[in-house]
Order: sequence, then C-alpha cells, then structure tokens
Amino acid sequence: MSNELFQQPILSDSMQVLQCLLPRNVLSSHEKQQLDNRLKGFQGEELFAELLQRNSAENQLILHNLRLETNDTEFEMDCLALQNEVIYLFEVKNYEGDFLYDDGKWFVVHNKKEISDPLAQLQRSEMLLKQILQRLNLNIPIQGYVVFVHPNFQLYQAPLGKNIIYPAQLERFLKKFSAHNAPLQHWHQNVMNRLSAMHVANSRHTRLPDYDFPTLRKGVFCQDCSAILSRSGRDFLHCQNCNVMESLEGGVLRLTKEFVVLFPDKKITTRKIFTWCGEIVSMKVIRRILRKHFEVVSYNRGTYFIFKSE
Ligand SMILES: [Zn+2]
Repeated sequence: MSNELFQQPILSDSMQVLQCLLPRNVLSSHEKQQLDNRLKGFQGEELFAELLQRNSAENQLILHNLRLETNDTEFEMDCLALQNEVIYLFEVKNYEGDFLYDDGKWFVVHNKKEISDPLAQLQRSEMLLKQILQRLNLNIPIQGYVVFVHPNFQLYQAPLGKNIIYPAQLERFLKKFSAHNAPLQHWHQNVMNRLSAMHVANSRHTRLPDYDFPTLRKGVFCQDCSAILSRSGRDFLHCQNCNVMESLEGGVLRLTKEFVVLFPDKKITTRKIFTWCGEIVSMKVIRRILRKHFEVVSYNRGTYFIFKSE
C-alpha cells in the first residue's frame, strides 16, 4: 500500500468545500473565519513540508495530516515522521506577531487575548497516539514538537526546556534531524502503513452549510481575491480587482474541479460547466477543453465526462 495521500499537506474535503463556496455567498462569518484560520495554518504546514523535504535524508518516512481516532476521540497530526527507532510528531503553527507565555498560558500581546495552549495540544496528541501504538502492540517512543514557522513569530518569556522549535532554529533543527539516520527497515514501512490505514477521512465534527447547484452564485472567481473574473480576449480571464490573468483553459479546468468537489455525485456535462462558469465561455469552447482533459462517456441521451484513468 502506498501512502501517497499523506506525502504532502492536503486540505480536508470539508475545507475544500468551504474554499469552493467562499466566493459564492453562502458562508456565514463564522465559517469564513474558520476557513481563514485553516488556510493560514495550512500555509504553515506547506512551508514546513517544503523545508523538511529540502533537508530530508532518505532514511525517514513522513505522513502529513493523518487523522486518527481512539476511544471516540479524534485527533489530527500535522506531520508524523518515523526514523531510527523514534516517531516524531510535529504540531505546526503559523502564528504571526508577538505572543506572551505566562505561567502556562499563552496570550496575544496586542489585545491580551488568551489562546489555546499549543503545548497542551501536542501533549494530547502524543497521549492519543501512544494509546494507538499500544493497541497495535508497537513499542515505539514518541517525540513531539511544536514548530513555529512564521518568520515574524515572537514569543516573550518563552519557557525553557519545552519541545518548541522557533523559526530561527528551524533550518538548524532539520539539518540535524535528517543527518545520520540508520537505513529504513521493513518494519518502518509497516508501521506507517498500519497507521495510515486507520486514517479517518471525514471528521465527525465538521458541519457543512446546505447548498445546491441552482441557487449557488455562478461565475469564475479569482483565486487570489475571490472577485469575479471577466473575459480578456480569446484565451484569457482577467481580475479587475488585483489585475491577475488566468488562461481560459486553466480557469475552466479549475472550475470543473470545484464543481466535482461540491457535487461529487453529479455528472460533469458541458452544459453544467457552461452554467457553472456564469456563461462567459461558450459551450463549444467548454466542450473542447473537457474533451482534452477528461474522458468522454457516451450514453443514449448524450455524453458526460469523467477523470482520465491513468
Ligand atoms: Zn483578484
């Protein structure tokens, strides 16, 4: 079994749905905030994954965004690495700005707001992971770290002796982390396979808003600012708000993928995508683009498209 799914940080299905709904006027301010926080965190995870990859030796196995469950309790781990005889658990934080640590509590400096304790979160994940390993009869020590990746993160009165990696230490830590690892053995892959097989794809805690195709706002929206795009010449789409250009083909493909994320059970048809894109691209052009990138399925009343099987 390959762990391809966990090789890069990936947004959960529900967050992808929220992301596709964002420009379509159905999200509450709470959902927007939730998405915003998640995307910020996700950027941090991507940055960490990139640094890890750049420094990575061959002799380690890595899983991103693994969500497990034990005793009815779900938990998600940003990054899990197995090397030598130890499992490393990284809780990645993309916090930006000045923070204060005071007697076990964490505060944002500028508004004195208390935030949840990342060390407590790490401890919780460590404890739950330990339970799972015990259940699998795996006796592997866990070493956890909270990693702050944003270059503008500053923690005042930082506690000593805690497993925290600060932005300025990150490169140094990863260099050391990836050096002199013993070669991987069969059991390493076996452990990671067993853990990833337990992945909980859909969290029980996410509730998505109701939406349906007819009432959602149609159009092609800017990836950067969510403003509606207009045609620019024959082959391009243009955002008047941030002056970004996107190829027509790229835009139609992106919108088709969004359509699939939001409506996994609906068939991809030329007319559906034509409507979905706000009718700014002709049926003929949409058909050409879909034919090029998807597989055509014909049935007695017409045709629809499916992803090409590799
Ligand atoms: Zn824009």
